[in-house]
Order: sequence, then structure tokens, then C-alpha cells
Amino acid sequence: MNLPKYDLHTHTTASDGVLSPLALYDSAREAGVEVLAITDHDTIEGVKGLMAIKNTSENEDNMILIPGAEFTCLLGKQILHIVGLGLDIEHPELKRHLADLETLRVDRAKRIALKLEKKRIPNIYNLVCEKAAGAQIGRPHFAKVLCDLKVVNSEEEAFKKYLGAGKLANVSVAWPSLEKVLEVIKASGAVSVLAHPTKYKLTMSKLRKIIAEFSALGGDALELGYPGINREQQNILKFEVQKHELLVSAGSDFHTPENRWTRLGVYPEISADLPHVLNSDGVINKQKQ
Ligand code: AMP
Ligand code: MN
Ligand code: MN
Ligand code: MN
Repeated sequence: MNLPKYDLHTHTTASDGVLSPLALYDSAREAGVEVLAITDHDTIEGVKGLMAIKNTSENEDNMILIPGAEFTCLLGKQILHIVGLGLDIEHPELKRHLADLETLRVDRAKRIALKLEKKRIPNIYNLVCEKAAGAQIGRPHFAKVLCDLKVVNSEEEAFKKYLGAGKLANVSVAWPSLEKVLEVIKASGAVSVLAHPTKYKLTMSKLRKIIAEFSALGGDALELGYPGINREQQNILKFEVQKHELLVSAGSDFHTPENRWTRLGVYPEISADLPHVLNSDGVINKQKQ
């Protein structure tokens, strides 16, 4: 099957990306992308605003814009990221879920700030709110402020010393369950994709169990093409895709043009013999069966 050039995993200033939704859209089009999904962390505000401009009869470019989000959730103690593609952005259950996530994220940000203040880094909550400028607040906003304050030299270092799991300013969050997120995605007519499966620092046997649970709970697809995945990992995961009759997806997980490892529309190729979330018309296939 011949698919249009696509990128189904990207971030904007509505979460922790640095390009505005419109700038991202223009960059993707310049990169030759024909189908773009915007998938900000736990928010649809960016893609929603852009759709109001682009999905009109006056819009003359023909790039297809897919409303999506990358949902944070928990399976037991494991944090997972689930990309929802083709969301009905007006669905009440989705809206309620996103409002809950915003509350969780603001509450977490306040608790992270308190921990940093105890380490003699004052006023950090206000600085982080300024940095986020209305976006869904995430740890990368803290990392950027810690860089601005010269507390650390890089965002990577901020995660290593302060923000990462088990580090000084780490706080736990009662993220929604995987089950709940899959239900919300399904209710809003979208397809669910387990994002970047090799990036959770899990052993292959643990990852296999998680994929089996994801599938048993009604999950639709596995991301098989993203920066960092290698051919051997793809082959192992391809086997799981076939075993659980899942679909496959791919995207750059683009956050910033400064990162030389991510380019819009660029990721390791995925084999064409697997059923894809996208069809040749650039439309998201509705769920697994
Ligand atoms: P959050 O959802 O607020 O917990 O933030 C997660 C985001 O932080 C991820 O989507 C990445 O963009 C970013 N991130 C995670 N780990 C690191 C790291 N070690 N260095 C830089 N950024 C990171
Ligand atoms: Mn991110
Ligand atoms: Mn992610
Ligand atoms: Mn992402």
C-alpha cells in the first residue's frame, strides 16, 4: 500500500514543544509532510486552534491535519504514553479527561516547585508558569527554567539531578489508568497507539506483558517508527504486533528544531506489510477490528 508522507507524533508550544502549532504546520509542509498529527502532552488546545484556521474551505494547502494528543497514564506503577489519533475534539468525555489532567499537572508543578524551593531555588513556580505561557505544564518547563537560572547546564542535566524518577524534585502523580485513557480515546472516536515502546527502560519480557495488557484492554496500535528505535527492536515488536493483531504507527516525536536527532517527517522506516493506522487517503483507520 502506498501511503502519503506522514508524521503522526509531534509537539507544539501547547505542551513542551518550541514551535507554535502554525509554525509546526508550516515546517511540516515545507518538509514535504502530507499528513500531520499534532499530539501534545495531555492537551488538544494547540491542534484545536489550528484546525479552526486550517480545516476551512478557504485553506488552500492540502496537508491533512489530524487532531491528536499524547496521554499520560499508569499501568500499575508504570507510566505509559498513549497517542490518540483522530480525536473528536468536542467530545464531552475527552474534555472532562483533559480538564482532570490539567488539574493534575498544575498540582504536580506546585509540588515540584516546593521541593526545589527547599533546595534554595526560590520563586520557581512563577517562573515556570511564565515559561509555560499557558501551555500544559510539564517537567521540561522546569528543566528550561533551571537552565535559565544556571542551576544546571542542560535540560538533560536538570532531569538527571532534579526531575527524573527518584531524583531530588521527583513527585508521584496519580495519573489516570491505561484502561481509562483507552476508554476515553475510544469514546472520542480515535485510535490508540502505545508510543515509543522501547523508551520506557523495560526489559523485553516486561514490555511484552505490557503490550499484551494494552491489547487486552482494547489498545489499537504500536508505534514502530520513531527516532531511537533500531531494526532489531522493530523486528521483535513486529512479532508482537502480529501476535496481538495490532495496527502500526510512526512519527518523529518532534519537540524542537534544535534537536538534530528529530526532523519532521523523519523516523526509521516501518515495514509495509503490517496494517497501518493510516490509509492511502491519509485517513486514520478506525480501530483494530
Ligand atoms: P512530563 O510529561 O511533564 O513528565 O514530561 C515528560 C517530557 O519530558 C517528555 O515528553 C520529554 O519531552 C521530556 N524528557 C523526559 N526525560 C527527559 C530527559 N532526560 N531530558 C530531557 N527531556 C526529557
Ligand atoms: Mn515531551
Ligand atoms: Mn512520550
Ligand atoms: Mn511525544
